[in-house]
Amino acid sequence: MSEKVRYTITACISGTSCNFDCGYCYRKKQGVEEKNQPSYFRYSVDYMLNALSKQRLGGIADIIVIGGGETLLHPDVVPFIKGLLAEGHIVEVVTNMTLNHRIDELLDNTPPEHLERLLVKGSFHYLELKRLNKLDDFFNNMKKVVDAGASCFPFLVICEEYIPLLDEIKSVFIENLGELPHCTSALDFTEAKMQPYGFYNSEFKKIVTEKFGSKINDTFDRFLSVDVKKHFCYAGEWSFVLNTSNGSISRCFYSPSEQNIFKDISSEIKLGAIGTNCCIGNCALHYNLVSQGIMPDFDDVISYGDMLYKPKLFNKKLVELLNFKYENYMPLFSKEEEQKINAKTRETFEELKTKV
Ligand code: SF4
Ligand code: SF4
Repeated sequence: MSEKVRYTITACISGTSCNFDCGYCYRKKQGVEEKNQPSYFRYSVDYMLNALSKQRLGGIADIIVIGGGETLLHPDVVPFIKGLLAEGHIVEVVTNMTLNHRIDELLDNTPPEHLERLLVKGSFHYLELKRLNKLDDFFNNMKKVVDAGASCFPFLVICEEYIPLLDEIKSVFIENLGELPHCTSALDFTEAKMQPYGFYNSEFKKIVTEKFGSKINDTFDRFLSVDVKKHFCYAGEWSFVLNTSNGSISRCFYSPSEQNIFKDISSEIKLGAIGTNCCIGNCALHYNLVSQGIMPDFDDVISYGDMLYKPKLFNKKLVELLNFKYENYMPLFSKEEEQKINAKTRETFEELKTKV
């Protein structure tokens, strides 16, 4: 029987630098200096790994390593990922899949038993890949990951400029990989509720479903219209977001930072459930968390491993590892406890807001 996953951790790599310049990227609106901020780590890789040891976390974790720009640009990121794998964690890394030397470094001399816990999510930025003549690199790196015994999947965020190109993109994938990408659609981050753009209508949804049949997209679409503030969420209790530049953690995205887990690595990690105090309007982009059962009200959501699975690109062991639901083995709160947690968390967030 495999070990139980204790936490899902989103480990954010600071900085905005990227080797791409996608027209739809949030970086586009930034000035030259702002959009070229390198990643920064106050602590050494070994120190960060100690802070995230299995012993301290109380078990293995599913750790998503994701940058504000290209995740793998900083030379410390690959050793950090390899160290997390060596500790026994599952590691998901999000990258534009074009830094060949970093992909090689990630795979070279990494034992097979570590690689089977590695998932590389390759963000597919078609127009930039063509402009920079890097389409071959993208697909070659995907194949390298699979050949090494790790898993990967391509991921397409459908923006307006991609709509006339969907058939072309589909053909490129069939020809180069024999698998289609998972997808979601771009959301408007200027709105507090992060709603889709005007093109996201029923006809568009039907076209995307027919063309790509992505189970991530199905879940994304479902949770766009779920009012998460009406459902108790265990983010903070079963998951958290880590700022790797300094060690501060928060229960989920946009919730306040409440603890620093790097300052004193002997301290207990203690956040508590966010309950009904989600700081985002919907949970569509966090399909990983909903599929792992972060809101037990939605126990019918497909398991995460099955949601992601692409036969030609996945190691079956990883699919098994990712097919867990926290509610099946973690303690659940009673309705009365939930109400108390909701009120206490609301109070904590209000207090923290006044301190900012
Ligand atoms: S690859 Fe990602 S971070 Fe880089 S410019 Fe494109 S969207 Fe932005
Ligand atoms: S509902 Fe989703 S986005 Fe909101 S706190 Fe929970 S996991 Fe995070």
